[in-house]
Amino acid sequence: MPEDTTTAESAWNAIQTCREVYNHALTQEYRPAPDHNKPSYNTMQNMLPKWKREWSEWKGVYSKCLQMAVRRIKNSESVLDSLEERGFDVGRLKWKSPREYRSIKYNQSGFDVDNNTGQDGHAIVNLSKIGNFNLDYHRPLPTKQNQNAKITEVILKKQKTGDWTVSIVVKYDADYPEKPTVENISIEDTVGIDLGITKFIHDSDNRAFARLDEEKDRERVERRHRSLSRKQYESENWNKARQSLVRAYERLRNRREDYREKLACWYTQEYDAVFLEDLDVASMTQQDRNARNISAMSWYATIQAFERHGNKNGCHIVKVPPEGTTKRCAKCGVGSDKPLWVREHSCPSCGFTVDRDYNSSLEVQQLGLKKLGVEFEKEELGLGQSEYSSNTMSVEAGISEGSHHRDALLSNTAVNLAIEAENLMREHRSPTLKERTAKAVSE
Ligand SMILES: [Zn+2]
Repeated sequence: MPEDTTTAESAWNAIQTCREVYNHALTQEYRPAPDHNKPSYNTMQNMLPKWKREWSEWKGVYSKCLQMAVRRIKNSESVLDSLEERGFDVGRLKWKSPREYRSIKYNQSGFDVDNNTGQDGHAIVNLSKIGNFNLDYHRPLPTKQNQNAKITEVILKKQKTGDWTVSIVVKYDADYPEKPTVENISIEDTVGIDLGITKFIHDSDNRAFARLDEEKDRERVERRHRSLSRKQYESENWNKARQSLVRAYERLRNRREDYREKLACWYTQEYDAVFLEDLDVASMTQQDRNARNISAMSWYATIQAFERHGNKNGCHIVKVPPEGTTKRCAKCGVGSDKPLWVREHSCPSCGFTVDRDYNSSLEVQQLGLKKLGVEFEKEELGLGQSEYSSNTMSVEAGISEGSHHRDALLSNTAVNLAIEAENLMREHRSPTLKERTAKAVSE
């Protein structure tokens, strides 16, 4: 919460100045340059003094924040690039309106976080050239005496609901656990994961997780869209309805994130090495553009969550190329074409018959083991010898029959996951969202 209305005002003005700098750098310097000759972040940053001479009001904002606004172009660009490298059809960065640009980032300097306020979980954050914000925090903040943890970034954001949030980025010095050496990894402590469109995850121990059941969230979003459309534009009721719609979207986004984080946390605690397919656009081509957007972003975010939790929990995360994993037989290696709607892998060469995604995950495991350098014989992999028999098994059966798996889940810290997963398993839903919903979610 800003200390007073003046602080709130100067914060919003500072954010909008950052937006002007962002838009200026993007549309005047970055976009007009030919692809092979885009100005670097440093080049654009070095133009800032000149810009400030031209627009003196830009001097009113802490200068490092303006540099961060310029860097934002490069950061977004590199995300788009890595999506594009994987064959994904990405748009390009656009000029941002005030509604689309809502945050300011302090990096390394210009901020002070005082959590010695005499009140538990309460801190006062001072932002240079803006003022003080009162902050209630839920995770411990490092003290100034702590040499191993340091606050490196403070991001102030005005949410679309009108609430202010302060994110504090803390850097801990390498207290990550060591990952096991390759010689010490046994095959049963590794897992291949098939990230799918119909199912969220199918793994090489024949465990399956459905997609998050978003039906209620989507209904809520739809309802609030309808309610908004009945209000008079920009009236007080319209504003209220809009904020409640934004909250519905946020809730959906948070649930998705939560689901990913729990799965990533559980897998990286349970295994020494997790193998995942790299983002695969080819498997998404049957979706419409918006749904594909969402799938790709979700896939991308999932890989990142696994990598983050892998570091924290001492687990190798190995990405393997996705090409062909759905076609090749995990047992004999012979490829056979099958359209997406054929849910069973039945090998014409050796007769190996299992769920399509299970076959992929077994293939992913083998590719991962090779890439990581773990030696193995095919016989060690227990192909199709899981407790679920080699026949195609429904996702529902995956958890309800697999008490062993449920125990494994419950014995873990992510207890909620087991409960939630069961609810989620009941149906697997198509990830396709209604277009309007999709657009707003991906914004
Ligand atoms: Zn085969």
